[in-house]
Amino acid sequence: METKLNKQELIVNYLDEILPNAGCELNYTTDYSFLIAVMLSAQCTDKKVNKVTAKLFKIYPDLESLANAKYKDIYELVKELGLAKTKAQNVIDIAKTLIDKFDSRVPINKFELMSLPGVGNKTANVVHVELFNIPEFPVDTHVARISKRLQIALEEDDVKTIEHKLKELFPKEKWIKLHHQFIHFGRYYCKAISPKCEGCKLAQICQKPCKS
Ligand code: SF4
Repeated sequence: METKLNKQELIVNYLDEILPNAGCELNYTTDYSFLIAVMLSAQCTDKKVNKVTAKLFKIYPDLESLANAKYKDIYELVKELGLAKTKAQNVIDIAKTLIDKFDSRVPINKFELMSLPGVGNKTANVVHVELFNIPEFPVDTHVARISKRLQIALEEDDVKTIEHKLKELFPKEKWIKLHHQFIHFGRYYCKAISPKCEGCKLAQICQKPCKS
């Protein structure tokens, strides 16, 4: 129990010290534009998504225009993001489904969210955190890697298990902030390759400090 508390405090204190204002880096202006941006961000960077969505939502400024867009035109816009065939179809299908089934609003209910094309557990959790301020701890590649390096999770753990372990370790009121801090820590400090270990105050609980 003592180790668990120490680890929790160490992580919270250090991330608050180096990343006090970590937040979402996806640009958006409406609920649906955020949902689509998150869906598009699968396996690519927020930076690339922001570049694409700036163009996408300028050409298609509302749900109706997206729902009526031609697949090949959306494909051309999103093709640099990877998984483009699926993502292009999802953009159109999400717009159609929101209009037809959800009164043109992103639903808050998780079951309904996950009924939307291309929306899985992680995307639904990210939407809950960002749009509705509902405490969740979405696990992306950065959160998973850091959880393993900091020995919160095991190498073989899947995302569901990692999410459960994070929620067990940290109090609910800290989940949203920590989720952002873990992502920023993974992007800018504890990178997959060549992490910046020098001066890292988490080295004492890290599985492999200073190794890629
Ligand atoms: S010591 Fe290095 S690998 Fe470990 S948590 Fe810090 S930055 Fe990441």
